[in-house]
Amino acid sequence: MIRTKRKIYKMPSRKPIYEGKAKQLFEGPEPGTLIQHFKDDATAFNNMKKGTINGKGVLNNRISEYLMLRLHDIGIPTHFIRRLNMREQLIKQVQIVPLEIIVRNFAAGSFSKRFGVQEGKAMGHPLVEYSYKNDKLGDPFVTEEHIYAFGLATPQEMDEIRMYAFRINDFLSGLFMGIGIRLVDFKLEFGRLQENDREIIVLADEISPDNCRLWDSTTGHKLDKDRFRQDLGEVEDAYQEVARRLGVLSKNEAEGSYVIAVNAKTPRARKTKKAAMKPNSKPKAK
Ligand code: C5P
Repeated sequence: MIRTKRKIYKMPSRKPIYEGKAKQLFEGPEPGTLIQHFKDDATAFNNMKKGTINGKGVLNNRISEYLMLRLHDIGIPTHFIRRLNMREQLIKQVQIVPLEIIVRNFAAGSFSKRFGVQEGKAMGHPLVEYSYKNDKLGDPFVTEEHIYAFGLATPQEMDEIRMYAFRINDFLSGLFMGIGIRLVDFKLEFGRLQENDREIIVLADEISPDNCRLWDSTTGHKLDKDRFRQDLGEVEDAYQEVARRLGVLSKNEAEGSYVIAVNAKTPRARKTKKAAMKPNSKPKAK
């Protein structure tokens, strides 16, 4: 709401399209576009664990913007158009392929559990797994046989998706290695986009510490959502550290006033870092 001396103007409400666990989609300003809003909400273990990571939405918006732009530079088509503000980006509306594409360079998480492989053990070569996006079923793992039997994607689409997944892995592994981070594994989503008279596959969703495992190359310190999943503490710090190393925070932001500057209602609140870390101080969505 904007107050002036005479009138109170109501901001036009936007049409919500979809609300996920960590993001919300709104109708975009032009046909074929959507606004992707990043929330601070965090969930794990298929919604069994819920919480808030202060400032996460702002950081993931920036991190994902940066990575999507770099991937675009190497020829990966993405849904990203531009960042709109601290928590939102404009994206192309796509039809999501209902699959989670998981790429693993080192054993961790569900892979370690399923196969009894010690966390951190290197894969001989990058391993790709698929799961069917379905919360009710708990996103079950599927093979290409299931994918074709259920008509989730065509063989041609899967060829393209696999090719993109490996290229993205090569590129991001190198990019993160350059900033002292090991890309252990990550999850991608793709969508179908009508371009001129043909349908193409584009990278969709987000790439951030919410859906990547990122370990410090030297110490093995976890810099991703596992800190939330496993109650390791310093969750906000981990997300900020990834953003800082990628260089997507300004100097002031990287020095610690960042989360407060984003969340603060009053200038006084900007003074200390601790002020923004109160457990219940849920930041206001922008
Ligand atoms: O849990 P799991 O080991 O299978 O996860 C592999 C990778 O995929 C992790 O980086 C995790 O953050 C990501 N993932 C995700 N969303 C899911 C499942 C996994 O982002 N629903």
